[in-house]
Amino acid sequence: MKHIDKQLDIAFSRYIRLKYPHCVLCGRGPTQCAHIFQGRANATKWHEDCAYGLCVHCHTKEHAQDGKPFESFARSLLGDDRYYELVRLNNAVSKTPLDEKRALLDAMRDFLKDEA
Ligand SMILES: [Zn+2]
Repeated sequence: MKHIDKQLDIAFSRYIRLKYPHCVLCGRGPTQCAHIFQGRANATKWHEDCAYGLCVHCHTKEHAQDGKPFESFARSLLGDDRYYELVRLNNAVSKTPLDEKRALLDAMRDFLKDEA
């Protein structure tokens, strides 16, 4: 994994855990950063509509199941139009450009600095 990807993973995970201190499925804390789309590096990896806070119990359970984790949760939260827009984005673009990664990392760090 490239250096900036690792930095983005860390900043994004902190951001999501601050945004969702309680599990979106059961309400327990603390939370982990859980992605609705799994696997390979993709354009939605650091998209805030594509990640939510889950407790370790719900996160483990979601990964143990077949199919897309949080599909029904994310669809009802985002609405079908937005959800399928993100599915298309996730399928269409396999890499986030470096300049976008840098801008995103700067934005995350600004946000986290304010929270600290
Ligand atoms: Zn939970």
